[in-house]
Amino acid sequence: MAYDFDLFVIGAGSGGVRAARFAAGFGAKVAVAESRYLGGTCVNVGCVPKKLLVYGAHVADELEQAAGFGWTLEEGHFDWGTLIANKNREIERLNGIYRNLLVNSGVTLLQGHARITGAHEVEVEGQRYSAEHILIATGGWPQVPDIPGKELAITSNEAFYLKELPRRVLVVGGGYIAVEFAGIFQGLGADTTLLYRGDLFLRGFDGSVRTHLKEELQKRGLDLQFNADIQRIDQQADGSLKATLKDGRELVADCVFYATGRRPMLDNLGLENTGVELDDRGFIRVDDQYQTTEPSIIAIGDVIGRVQLTPVALAEGMAVARRLFKPEQYRPVDYQNIPTAVFSQPPIGTVGLTEEQALEAGHKVQIFESRFRAMKLTLTDIQEKTLMKLVVDAETDKVLGCHMVGPDAGEIIQGLGVALKAGATKQQFDETIGVHPTAAEEFVTMRTATR
Ligand code: FAD
Ligand code: NDP
Repeated sequence: MAYDFDLFVIGAGSGGVRAARFAAGFGAKVAVAESRYLGGTCVNVGCVPKKLLVYGAHVADELEQAAGFGWTLEEGHFDWGTLIANKNREIERLNGIYRNLLVNSGVTLLQGHARITGAHEVEVEGQRYSAEHILIATGGWPQVPDIPGKELAITSNEAFYLKELPRRVLVVGGGYIAVEFAGIFQGLGADTTLLYRGDLFLRGFDGSVRTHLKEELQKRGLDLQFNADIQRIDQQADGSLKATLKDGRELVADCVFYATGRRPMLDNLGLENTGVELDDRGFIRVDDQYQTTEPSIIAIGDVIGRVQLTPVALAEGMAVARRLFKPEQYRPVDYQNIPTAVFSQPPIGTVGLTEEQALEAGHKVQIFESRFRAMKLTLTDIQEKTLMKLVVDAETDKVLGCHMVGPDAGEIIQGLGVALKAGATKQQFDETIGVHPTAAEEFVTMRTATR
């Protein structure tokens, strides 16, 4: 049977654009439907604008350090409107780049909401298209717990477009987004409290990293409230928001920001017209080749809820394009040792196993840990400490995990990701000559095991 397209991609985000472009490059006839914004979450309301705001907040650190290096500065003034307008301009530029990438690679771009009407059929703006393969790459959406007053809270989607920087912010959650936005709000001058329901935030990260970041954030004056959860939110006569906690305490703020995880974006997608099944958590169930339970439908990225990171969605998109249209180049995605960064202030960089995971997997571990004040701070009064940690298999000498909290952690951890992928041993780390003077060299000079 002749189809309109070989591949119909729903969602022009990280995964969808990558799959579409490469599939078209391999000679396939490809369409992409996008309902909202080209480039998806990462470009519009995720990685990119977030990192720009992190840079903005980081300027405060540089200003604070300047005096130690002999600089006298006039009192600084921060303007939220300028930062947001400049950020918006950059995002529009990127939207245009994404459009050109797709159009120039021969992809048919359809603007509008796509709804699947059959195993090989998609409807966009009243028009039906047939396709041999349909790729669902619709990403995720913030989810806020169902509490009274939840409509008064904002999520990351709205935070990027706030008209003003709120004076007092309550950030709820203890994952990537909560920690990053707490740093952004506080760095830009808002009075910020982070509320997390458990004992310690960043569940799943290495224990030393979690504790170290907690201490450093507290040193910076961030109000961290653990074992704290909001029961209800009420608007007060003066417009401010009162959050009543489950333990009865009341906190007042101008903005309550929820970062309590993301659900798969399946709204009005038409899955009921297909045999696509969901997993226990509500994400699309796929096998190790991203095949759903409907043979002609594939799904990748945040909507399958494996690892919600842009480079992972890109790798999955690439794998799908190759498997379908260039099978001789197909390689499965390697989910081990994915490096990642949390752009908190200071940031986290991490790759490989945490100490807890290594022990749980039955490794006999040796831990190398170093805490030091970065050279850049020695001419200042700032007492921030950097943490570096290696988790090593005591029997094979293989480095199982590298973890860092400190300036440029994301930049530093990328190279260590290559080392771990190559299976580096601690001896090879030791035999690597350091780059002096840097903080990164500490990763190759930790000689004595701490435990
Ligand atoms: P998305 O990029 O979400 O794209 C899905 C697209 O599908 C969207 O454009 C959507 O409009 C469209 N769509 C949905 N339904 C339909 C439909 N029915 N019809 C047509 N179009 C539809 N990851 C990192 O690696 N590093 C970071 O620093 C980072 N920071 C982040 C910060 C924030 C605040 C957030 C929210 C996420 C961040 N992420 C980060 C995660 C990253 O953005 C996602 O993992 C990534 O965007 C997932 O790509 P995707 O292709 O699966 O989906
Ligand atoms: P996460 O899953 O990382 O964190 C969610 C947090 O919310 C957890 O601390 C969780 O607590 C808490 N939580 C969940 N449900 C509730 C509830 N009902 N009440 C109170 N607290 C709750 O999600 P995020 O929203 O932070 O980010 C989504 C994903 O996007 C991340 O996992 C990451 O993959 C990606 N991302 C990546 C970034 C990067 O690479 N730098 C930056 C931002 C996002 P508990 O741990 O107790 O379950």
